[in-house]
Amino acid sequence: MLSTRILIIGGGIHGTFLARALTEDCGLDAGDVLVLDPVGRPVREWRRRCCIVGMSHLRSTSSHNMETDYRALRRWARQHGYEYDIHFREPYARPSVYAFHAHMDHVLVRSRIASRFVPGTAQSLSRTVTGWIVESEAGQIHAETVVLATGPGPPRVPAWAAETEIRHVYADPEPPRPDAGTRIAVIGGGISAWQFACRYAGSHDVSVFSTHGIRASMFDSDPGYLGPKKMSSFLEKPVPAREHELRTARRPGSIPPDLETMVRTHLAREQLSFHVAAITSARETSSGYELRTKDGARHGGFDEVVCATGFQGQHAPGGFIAQVARECDLPCSTEGYPLLQRDLSWAPRLHVAGGAASLVLGPTAGNIVGAHKAFRTLRTGLS
Ligand SMILES: Cc1cc2nc3c(=O)[nH]c(=O)nc-3n(C[C@H](O)[C@H](O)[C@H](O)COP(=O)(O)OP(=O)(O)OC[C@H]3O[C@@H](n4cnc5c(N)ncnc54)[C@H](O)[C@@H]3O)c2cc1C
Repeated sequence: MLSTRILIIGGGIHGTFLARALTEDCGLDAGDVLVLDPVGRPVREWRRRCCIVGMSHLRSTSSHNMETDYRALRRWARQHGYEYDIHFREPYARPSVYAFHAHMDHVLVRSRIASRFVPGTAQSLSRTVTGWIVESEAGQIHAETVVLATGPGPPRVPAWAAETEIRHVYADPEPPRPDAGTRIAVIGGGISAWQFACRYAGSHDVSVFSTHGIRASMFDSDPGYLGPKKMSSFLEKPVPAREHELRTARRPGSIPPDLETMVRTHLAREQLSFHVAAITSARETSSGYELRTKDGARHGGFDEVVCATGFQGQHAPGGFIAQVARECDLPCSTEGYPLLQRDLSWAPRLHVAGGAASLVLGPTAGNIVGAHKAFRTLRTGLS
């Protein structure tokens, strides 16, 4: 049986950030931390998603990077010849995906954190007198302390699509690679949908179907929650009010202004078509997929239909957090968020990071800055 002081379950942006920061910034011995992740390599899901949709720049500022120092990415890029005009986009010096990944690779090599990764999926969690036993394909792992950083949950697929062969853009390890010239319908109106549509606009016949018009917003949630301005009053509210506030503070289905410009340029050049419509059903015909909308209209002849309809949330029923809540009898809110203490503990020596910690960290919990916030909260308890 493997044994460790701290086991982080999930090696995405959040799990990797925490593992690196705990060892590099808190002086924990590298041997004190293990990260359990299905592929056994850091930040694979994030990279895969960026690649699938062809993202060129992050939505967030370069301050939100894989080091604890907010200036680290900009400083590193300057020292390594990354031209500001090419790799940073104003406002907020948003980094190119290329520069963000190059800096992240540098941090991963320096910290040697990949050597702390164990390939495997956590299947269950049980308490012991000295901590927790995690069951996984890698065998049993005993940990004094466990941190759950299992990501945004499974992709959300609309009910009408679940009955067909239609897939979510992030569902398969191999990304969709439509042949040139094919007709693609993209379902969704957020950053993944529009990025994916723009990636194929011009070379393919792309139609986007969204229940709402184009929503431009610099951030995916109100930036007031990055600091005490909004967080102080948020934390004073009872849980149902916080759940409500999380819904109103987030801006799902929105895209940053530069992506909006790209979308509108493609639309003006007729390289994309856009329909504000709710799809209610899809069927395969001899001439491709036919989509039916709520108002009874039919749109046919699609070679491929791709859903970019978000994620279920890491606290979703059927997710690992919900399973742990059931198995270990731990409290959740009506909407399924784990009810955590201010130090992000859910039970003694069991902590939660990422979007599932939103009731304590606020609406930015699932973002890169959420990993910074989680680390600042966890560092005293864990080091
Ligand atoms: C297209 C796109 C663009 C985004 N752009 C930005 C941006 O610019 N700025 C920003 O701040 N945020 C952005 N985000 C939001 C957020 O930062 C990312 O979704 C980020 O990947 C979340 O990191 P995570 O570690 O929580 O989840 P993930 O990256 O999904 O990692 C979670 C890991 O946990 C693993 N896991 C799950 N269950 C288990 C289990 N039972 N056992 C073991 N491992 C498990 C998963 O396999 C995965 O490897 C973006 C999101 C998307 C989709």
